[in-house]
Amino acid sequence: RCSLEDVVFSRGELSRYGNIELSPSSGVINYGQGLFEGLKAYRTANRQGYMLFRPEENARRMQHGAERMCMPSPSVEQFVHAVKQTVLANRRWVPPQGKGALYIRPLLIGSGPILGLAPAPEYTFLVYASPVGTYFKEGLAPINLVVQDAFHRAMPGGTGGVKTIANYAPVLKAQMDAKSKGFTDVLYLDAVHKRYLEEASSCNLFIVKDGVVATPATVGTILPGITRKSVIELARDRGYQVEERLVSIDDLMGADEVFCTGTAVVVAPVSTVTYQGQRYEFKTGQDTLSQTLHMALTSIQKGLAEDKKGWTVAI
Ligand code: PMP
Repeated sequence: RCSLEDVVFSRGELSRYGNIELSPSSGVINYGQGLFEGLKAYRTANRQGYMLFRPEENARRMQHGAERMCMPSPSVEQFVHAVKQTVLANRRWVPPQGKGALYIRPLLIGSGPILGLAPAPEYTFLVYASPVGTYFKEGLAPINLVVQDAFHRAMPGGTGGVKTIANYAPVLKAQMDAKSKGFTDVLYLDAVHKRYLEEASSCNLFIVKDGVVATPATVGTILPGITRKSVIELARDRGYQVEERLVSIDDLMGADEVFCTGTAVVVAPVSTVTYQGQRYEFKTGQDTLSQTLHMALTSIQKGLAEDKKGWTVAI
């Protein structure tokens, strides 16, 4: 059965980071029945506490993913409570001034044993934290993407639109190949037409042409990023027209500016995209929309600007 609304999660507890016990026949190990989330807790400007960015959105995305994966999910309140408790338990860790954050990784896994292909009989929701710096080795410098025709990360009817652990398996080899050739990350095209842009391994994509912003629509094969949603709103607030639509590789070639968004990468300017051996260059640095949006977003996340939208949660 796939409807597990009547399942209740028992009260959780805090424990030291360490190995967990799992049945060898657990649903997650055998059939990839698992979801994760990623959030950052930023130190507030006065360095007294931490701030989370839109954690209810992560909770809702996990709930939505759980439906697709035949899993029960914690309530929004349970999710946010567990995340807050994890931050509190790690509050003594302070990132260096102006750098880094506490990365929070909630995981929902089919932990019960199941031999035949079916949803696991038991589930575990856990949250762990780790200090992080910038995601790409470039730091805040512009990144270089490559389109690799041989690899796709999602297909229509698949699980590309939810944050299931299995989505990251097809990406590993593509990413390692790209890195070995000196690229920062892979830019994926849709698997049917091999023409429409989807996203990079862990971030959403935006292009800017003549002041109009476009980003691939979330039609089931790309992850609906929380940073993506926030950046769309911030750009519209600043008077930009933002289109969520099919964005082709030809659109990208003619773009003035390209950037990626994600919790880990924040807003990362893209300086080059290589497609079929051809390198396309884009504007980065001063007076770019990505720089404006990076500033606008991080100011809210770090409590440096007034949070008029109620996006942050102080801890
Ligand atoms: N796409 C993929 C495949 C991702 O893993 C992520 C990171 N969660 C994103 C996009 C960006 O999503 P968010 O802005 O919610 O971090």
